[in-house]
Formats: sequence, structure tokens, C-alpha cells
Amino acid sequence: MKSYIIPEFLVERDDHHCIRCEVCVRQCAFDVHRYDEEEDEVFAHEDKCVGCLRCVTLCPTNALVVRDNPTRVPANANWTREVLHNIYKQAETGGVLLTGMGCDKEYRNYWDRITLDASQVTNPSIDPLREPMELRTYLGSKPDAVEIGGGRGRHELETRLAPQLRLETPIMFSALSYGAISYNTCECLARAAAEVGTCYNTGEGGLHRDLYRYGGHTICQVASGRFGVHADYLEAAAALEIKIGQGAKPGIGGHLPGEKVSEEISRTRMIPKGTDALSPAPHHDIYSIEDLAQLIYALKEATGWQKPVSVKIAAVHNSAAIASGMVRAGADIIALDGIRGGTGAAPTMIRDNVGIPIELALAAVDARLREEGIRNRASVVVAGGIRSSADVVKAVALGADAVYIGTAALVALGCHVCQKCYTGKCNWGIATQDPYLTKRLNPEVGTRRLVNLLTAWSHEIMEILGGMGINAIESLRGNRLRLRGVGLTREELDMLGIKHAGA
Ligand code: SF4
Ligand code: SF4
Repeated sequence: MKSYIIPEFLVERDDHHCIRCEVCVRQCAFDVHRYDEEEDEVFAHEDKCVGCLRCVTLCPTNALVVRDNPTRVPANANWTREVLHNIYKQAETGGVLLTGMGCDKEYRNYWDRITLDASQVTNPSIDPLREPMELRTYLGSKPDAVEIGGGRGRHELETRLAPQLRLETPIMFSALSYGAISYNTCECLARAAAEVGTCYNTGEGGLHRDLYRYGGHTICQVASGRFGVHADYLEAAAALEIKIGQGAKPGIGGHLPGEKVSEEISRTRMIPKGTDALSPAPHHDIYSIEDLAQLIYALKEATGWQKPVSVKIAAVHNSAAIASGMVRAGADIIALDGIRGGTGAAPTMIRDNVGIPIELALAAVDARLREEGIRNRASVVVAGGIRSSADVVKAVALGADAVYIGTAALVALGCHVCQKCYTGKCNWGIATQDPYLTKRLNPEVGTRRLVNLLTAWSHEIMEILGGMGINAIESLRGNRLRLRGVGLTREELDMLGIKHAGA
């Protein structure tokens, strides 16, 4: 069948600069480039290009340019180029449209409509180069009050605290499962988390035995498919996370195609090699808050009440009420994943149309838990579109204890957000199990890049806090008075619980 799809990208090669080294030919798993010996020329199949920019980045002579195809299709505001493209594709395949990474629709990004305060004259700012700044964060349930005993100048905490997850910076790596990402990517995340003093998250892919040594920095997920969940796995973790939903695909399960289930993945996930790993949409033992309470209790019992248990949900319309139930069910950490949260594979229509922005969900959840007087009983971690240190600071001021970053971490490793993770052909060696491609991500280099990213963001957070006259991230948590909205409606401001700039 002749395809009616117009190539998304144009691949332009400067023939004077091209030295016919064939780097682009070897680097592209989508077979875009082809060297013709007879003509001594390199050609491009533009219809295959996904825009991952691996070839452009590695071309030794900068001879390549990949750009959006400007060809005008007779589209209008309703029948956009993307809508036409999707319909042509479905007319050719008869299948559900798949995609990777997070929603790319232009829903309002509230982080970009919120500004931060700074100290002037009174409450002077603090210079983070000269004064100590505290980013250390403890995640877990806090008591309503603490009792201090001791006497005669000795102060001892008499209240028994629930287990806490200690982070040196309020940034963790999101759930990224082995299977969706390569082993080398998992290793980079684990090593970087250990080096920085934070945590990464296994997602629903289990934990490879070689990574058990980073257990103190690992959040082990228990998802509906229960892949790789066993006593050693739970025991290895610093914290456990029950995954109910994720922002990129609220309400549906996951699917790792059999061709990605290699020997190692089959061993880690405890499923036969080459079989599809299907995780059901719901946990089949959770149909109520009481059921959730039972699973939280079971996980705490199984690990001797030594580890905090997180419950992760996708941000949806009634997240606040759900979060209240989760806290009352015994969750120590509430993880909220917004509509811009990434994934290895999701139906495009679900990714782009289901769920709500994390900023609104966070504001609603924090407010509800405060109203009910149970905010201290659980920490709140947010994910789904955190792109910079400024986003982290705004999230904390809006009520988060810490954030998860997924896409930003992968970008640090080379990802160019081409959204083709579901093909398994990631040219950057990230979202792939192809041994030829996975080698492209060197764990040493990847770890360094992630450590650099977290170090840089942490420094920036300290600078922003210093400018606000705050010396501990804890003091900013939930302090919405230090936020102002720009160009937002009254309703949006009320929802976010902030004033408009100028007020
Ligand atoms: S990588 Fe650059 S120089 Fe090498 S063949 Fe491709 S376009 Fe030419
Ligand atoms: S991980 Fe790889 S395939 Fe996925 S968006 Fe990034 S570059 Fe593309």
C-alpha cells in the first residue's frame, strides 16, 4: 500500500563537507543513511528519519542538518498536520497509535506561569558560597508531635519515628524499568543516585542482581504485573513503591513486547524469555482503599517495618480525595505523576488526553491533606515534566517534599526526545535491548553526566533559596506566599493557591 505520510524531517547533507566516513550509516538503527559506492555518495531515506539527531551529533564534519519538513499540507486549525498524519497511519496499519516519552500537547505549563520571590532589604538574602545551605530531605511519615526527653542539658528524641528515606537533594530518578530501558541506563541511574545520595526507582521491571549493591539508593516498585517481586527484591530496597498508575497512561496497564524480553530480562522479571510482559491495568487485589491498606501492610510486614512504602498514582481529576485515602491506608509517601510524565510506550491518544498537569494535582493534594490535618503523615513526591532546578523549587513551594525526574535524566544521557522509545531502536542506547545499541551508553560516562546534572541543579537550588533568604529547603516546603502567578485566571490562581504577580 502506498503511504500517504509526508516525511516529518528533511535530512540535508553538505556534500563539500561530507568525508564519506559512514558514521551516520552505522549510527542510525532506522536505516536512514545509505552509502552508494558507485556514486561515492551518501543518501538519506527521509521517510525513515525519527529526528533523534544521533547522526547530526556524531558527524565529524558537521555536514548534516535534520530539520522539520516545512512542506505545507492543506491543514487548518482543526485538521492539523498531526491529525492527518495519524489518520493516514491508522488507515495503513489498522492499529492503535503508539508513542514514547511524555505528552507533547500544548496544555498550559504552570511552572512557566509561576515566578519566585526574592529577599530585598528585610529578611536579607543568603550567600550560598559562604553560608551553609541544607537540601537534605527525609521522606516518610512524620509524627503529629515529638517528645524530647533527657534532662540536664541532654536532649533525646523519645518519639519513635517511622522509617525515613534520606536524600541529600530533593531530586530522585523516576521509575524506569529494566526492559523499557537498557541495563547500562539502569546502571547509570543506580550509580549516580548512590554517588549523589539520592534514589532511583526500578519501575516495574525488577532489579538486576548486579545492581543489588546499590539497594540503599533503590526504590523497588511493586506493580500490577508483580514482575521480579520476591523477598530478596523487597529486602534489597531502601523503600518500596506500589504503582497504581503513571502519568503517561493513567488507567491502563503496560506491555513489553516479547522480542525485548532477553535472557537477562526474563531472569530479572521472572517470566519466560521471549514472552510478552503484560501488566494488567488494575492490581487484581486492589479494588478499594481497604485493599490498598492490606497491600501496604503486607509489604511493611514482609520487610520488618523498616522501609517506607510509597504509593504512586497518575494525576487525575480526583487525585486529592484519592491521596487522602492513600495516606489513611498507611502510605508513607504519595507519588503523583502528571500528564507530561514519560513512558517507554503508550497509546498516543491516552498519553495526550488523559490525566491532568502535575502542578494542579500537587496544589490540590497538598491543600486537601492540610485541610484534613494529615499532611505530616506522608511525604509528597511529584513527577511528570520537571525540567529544571527552578521547577524543583516551585514544586517544593507548592507543597512537594521532593521530585522525580525521568525525561530530564534521559536527556542528560543523550536522549533527544524523538518519542520512538517503543520501537526498541533507540540510537542513544537508552530505550533499547539491542546489544549493538546498548553499548553506545558507557556507564562511566552516563553516571558522570547524571551526577553533573544533579550537582548543577542542587547548586542552582541553593542559589535560588539563598536569594529568597532561606537556608534550608525544608523552610520553603508548601510556602506558597513565595510564589506568584503571571497571566493566570482567577480560577487557576485559586486552584494553585497563589496570588497574582503584583499582589
Ligand atoms: S557522518 Fe557526516 S561526514 Fe560521515 S558520511 Fe555521514 S554526513 Fe558524511
Ligand atoms: S530514549 Fe531514545 S528512543 Fe526514546 S525519546 Fe530518547 S532518544 Fe528517542
